[in-house]
Amino acid sequence: ESVVYWMRMGDLRISDNRALSLASAHAKKNKLPLVSLFVLSPEDYKAHDRSPRRIDFTLRNLALIKDSLAKLHIPLHTITQPKRREIPGQVISFLEQLNASGVYANIEYEVDELRRDIQICKTAKSKGFGAHFVHDKCVVEPGVVLTKENRTYAVYSPYQRAWIKKLNADIPHFLEDCPEPHPNPQSVHENKKIKDLFNSQVPQSIPGFELDPNDRKRMELAWPAGEIAANEMLRRFLHTKSRTSQMVPSNPLADGAEDSPKHSRLSAYDTDRDNADKDTTSRLSPYLAAGIISARACIRATMPATKNAHADSGRWVQEIAWRDFYVCILAGNPRVSMGRPYQEKSVDIVWEGPALDGAYTDGKQQINPKAELPLATSESNIEKWKSGQTGYPIVDAGMRCVKETGYLHNRVRMICAMFLVKHLMIDWRVGEKYFMENLIDGDLASNNGGWQWVASTGVDACPYFRIFTAATLSWSTCSSSNTLPLTIPSTARTPSSRQSAKYGRYRTSGCERRPMTLRSSIAEKSAE
Ligand code: FAD
Repeated sequence: ESVVYWMRMGDLRISDNRALSLASAHAKKNKLPLVSLFVLSPEDYKAHDRSPRRIDFTLRNLALIKDSLAKLHIPLHTITQPKRREIPGQVISFLEQLNASGVYANIEYEVDELRRDIQICKTAKSKGFGAHFVHDKCVVEPGVVLTKENRTYAVYSPYQRAWIKKLNADIPHFLEDCPEPHPNPQSVHENKKIKDLFNSQVPQSIPGFELDPNDRKRMELAWPAGEIAANEMLRRFLHTKSRTSQMVPSNPLADGAEDSPKHSRLSAYDTDRDNADKDTTSRLSPYLAAGIISARACIRATMPATKNAHADSGRWVQEIAWRDFYVCILAGNPRVSMGRPYQEKSVDIVWEGPALDGAYTDGKQQINPKAELPLATSESNIEKWKSGQTGYPIVDAGMRCVKETGYLHNRVRMICAMFLVKHLMIDWRVGEKYFMENLIDGDLASNNGGWQWVASTGVDACPYFRIFTAATLSWSTCSSSNTLPLTIPSTARTPSSRQSAKYGRYRTSGCERRPMTLRSSIAEKSAE
């Protein structure tokens, strides 16, 4: 007999991992060996627009986890299953082969994954295995922070207030540091079936998701794999100042940043976080999205600032709450996993550009008979947006940064997204898909939440008439970056006091009121 921990794409760590911890406790109590499993599913990755960068990051982390678990005499077995419908059967047959008493996994809240797990639960029950799926992704799991009417919050601010109240009411529960897994006895290597699992290799790449060698090198430098790297990123955010470098991430572990607790990025976060020309934020999103560090650990680490008495609701902690919020929206509203807008009424919005998965089509290629621009113009606008050739410096800098690094500062994500949706009037799903295909931190809940917020189709969305004035923004520091060679207007370097009051240092609080019917194409801009 044995116990199986099924690791998923969002919990690539050994420390503070709820399902792994529970599986290990069960194995120890019943004197059974613990085995871990990872299922690679290229069909799933394609269906969910997973970026080759995120897949490569997954494989790099899995290789390290396999080694660390092996030191505890726990095998990590990887299976590549080309057909995603066959995953439940494959997992069950793995459990049967190992005569497992049960399987433990952390819940994935996306619709396809929930359906798959429900099927596994049913089959496991009929075959007499235990199937234990537990909450781990969020600090406060979906379904706990609800309105007085017992509904999911649709507005962030009251959600955040209720979230921090709930968290502070039961810190030991919500911020529990789950125990590390116990080692298997060494005798596990004598078990023929388990011994073979130690020999299986984590693949170096997945067909269809290979990275070109240069990109791989860049990703390895900017986003080193492993829990040690993630914890060091967090430590540096808490204890070191932001540097004067551009937003393009460089090797975070080799920059010689010195501790400066009083002026740490955390302490300056409230005022500096929207300055995209420095590394003012934590850059932990790839690690949080892949679960290389838990969101609980992030909150715990900020608690010495509040004398460990309670979790404060400082601005950075509120960002972690945004992450939880979007997971709750995804979990409570399956339609957002299916390409539908959160606000159903926005199905009627007239978008320019090509049809997406048949949505809004009348059977022809043109998406919408009311679209004003010829399809070819919209398609060419989309290509210019993707390749950072729009002529709007900050949009182009942002889009080139996505392409080069797989990451983008939050404020610039909002600007680039708003430019596509509200200047070019392109369906937000075109941008959502492109970001997923290129970001290393691509996460359905946060990406979808961000895009729908920008498009004013989502939960707590910005009002439809609020449009970032990307056209008037530029980026003084880009001129010193090799990767973002842009022409900078001189006014951007010495903004007048009126300009700075309106835009701050690229804080795009300034918005224009424009009717939704306005269409501003790159072609029009070039003609100006
Ligand atoms: P910090 O400012 O240090 O914040 C700490 C953590 O809080 C982040 O790592 C992230 O996990 C969470 N967080 C911060 N802001 C948000 C937010 N607005 N929504 C949800 N969580 C947040 N984030 C992703 O992790 N994956 C995505 O695919 C993604 N796509 C986005 C698409 C759009 C259009 C927009 C506007 C935002 C998107 N975000 C996404 C949210 C946000 O931009 C990133 O989380 C943030 O830029 C990551 O940088 P950081 O780790 O330095 O963040």
